[in-house]
Amino acid sequence: MRLSRDMAKHRPPVPTLLRWSKYTQVSEVQDPLGLSLRGSARLASRLLYCITSVTPRARYFSFLPWCILDFQKREKDQPHARGLREAIILREQAFTLGCLTHHDGEPCAGGRLVGTRGAQKWCCADATEVDFRKCKPFAKIPALSQYLNSLVNLGLFVTDDERPEADDEEEVEEFTFDATELSELGRDLANRYDSVVGSLACLKHLSEPDRTCKRTGLAEFGERGGLCELASQTDGDRPLLRDIFFARTGRRDKSHRVRRQSLLLILELSHQLGVSGWELNEPEFAGAAYFERVQNAEEGIDITISPALADIATRWRMFYFHYYMSVALEGLFVWLIAHLTECGLAGADIDTLPALLSQTATTATVAKALGVKLSAPFGRMRPAELYGAVGVVAGNLDAATGSALDRAVTTMTALAEDRLEAVIRSNTHLNTPAGLAVPMVLLATTLGRYARWERTDYGQWLASAAGDPYLDLIPPVLVAGLTVRFGEWWQCPWEELTAFVLSRFVIRQHTAMSYAKSWTGERCLLQVDGEKVFATGAYERVGIGNPRFRSAAQVLKDLGLARDDEDGVTHLTADGTRFLNEELAKEALA
Ligand SMILES: [Zn+2]
Repeated sequence: MRLSRDMAKHRPPVPTLLRWSKYTQVSEVQDPLGLSLRGSARLASRLLYCITSVTPRARYFSFLPWCILDFQKREKDQPHARGLREAIILREQAFTLGCLTHHDGEPCAGGRLVGTRGAQKWCCADATEVDFRKCKPFAKIPALSQYLNSLVNLGLFVTDDERPEADDEEEVEEFTFDATELSELGRDLANRYDSVVGSLACLKHLSEPDRTCKRTGLAEFGERGGLCELASQTDGDRPLLRDIFFARTGRRDKSHRVRRQSLLLILELSHQLGVSGWELNEPEFAGAAYFERVQNAEEGIDITISPALADIATRWRMFYFHYYMSVALEGLFVWLIAHLTECGLAGADIDTLPALLSQTATTATVAKALGVKLSAPFGRMRPAELYGAVGVVAGNLDAATGSALDRAVTTMTALAEDRLEAVIRSNTHLNTPAGLAVPMVLLATTLGRYARWERTDYGQWLASAAGDPYLDLIPPVLVAGLTVRFGEWWQCPWEELTAFVLSRFVIRQHTAMSYAKSWTGERCLLQVDGEKVFATGAYERVGIGNPRFRSAAQVLKDLGLARDDEDGVTHLTADGTRFLNEELAKEALA
């Protein structure tokens, strides 16, 4: 029942008469407007603290502390002992091989076993034992580097430092191991994992001078201590991992409580989607949290949020205001690059672009795409008129207008964020001016709906995510920018709005971001020369997403609270249902 989001068409190469001999070399660009790094990643880290996009498997949270404990117990101070760092990597290698061997060369269900590809080569060979003294590292980035900051922030080490969490493997730094002392909680967790695997002969050999493990022994290690095996083990480390993730022990202050509530929300939505046969993916989670309804072309279900989770659900709504705003701005960027590429080295005069919105053909295409009758050329109309056509009172934009828009523009109606998102991601209108109009409408729907929240504590919470009001584009920053420029922007023609948004929030933003990221500006895909703009590279699809959602859903499955059926629909386990009910009851009392 997933919306098809991946229908990008590839444009045929456009012949260009060259004025210069070639385009500037541009490295692959991600996050061209900084909307991810400076917006969604920040918001996601508040909502799902310690569960980053690179730390999706709960088992690593107990396995890695165990590596330290095991080293201290069996190896430290012996003549053959390795350094702690090497000792951990050695155990990680055995772990990777253990999981793969147990599953006949495949990683654990749910994936993200660190070092899989390198280790699979060994698994294909028919060696009956492995000498880890001769084993080359399987992974470029060891698991500890990916998980360390989350482990520290969860309180598994003795340190008060808060560590920056990375959501991108590219940003993960090789760990420098200054926090080597496990906290009481970290030791407790490590001991619980040890109760699962500690008696295995293979692990004894691993810490002895010969460092040689039998294939059968490694398979046993995977069978007991592997990633996917955690879900079905009711004792050992799993109960304590649940307590830690749900802030029932260890750190319980604000960000940990927010993570706890986010996880409960995902569980609750997962339950409601599952009983109706809907998958728990990003679009469904977005629909449930943002619209309290999921819908496709044929059917839909209403979602009921427990009063105990109303606060966290509203925070996720704020996350999605940023998300949809980002789809709109990136959609404008993708369209602009496509348009400029077509213009080739002649470039385009930026001031002339908005006039394209008032062409007769454009107005007809936009009217069809939006399912509304347009009484005038689109570019000369105002947002107030467009939303007036679907029943929103055509006054100024305020909280009441936002609420009216909430009632009139429901999920998957033509002006709704999710429908417009699907149109933009499909790249259908990339080669016509309608491709400039649709993201502008998405931006207006999003900011219009946001007006209801702007002056609330939730609006404040969202606004506080911007550290730098010039570089960090989030909805409150855009609203402020539009208001300063136009006053009642809701009453301004689309042409004028588009001219401003393109120049300030797309072109200037991309240029600023490319310099902020690399001193040479080599990631800049636009070249501005007076009034003229040129494209210097390609950017073909909107990249923004919900960076931590998948990891959180995986952690819940690893903890045995939810499980996918053969159709990919996620259901709560019996234990998960009981757990959710108990925790919701506690939330209601809190
Ligand atoms: Zn497994």
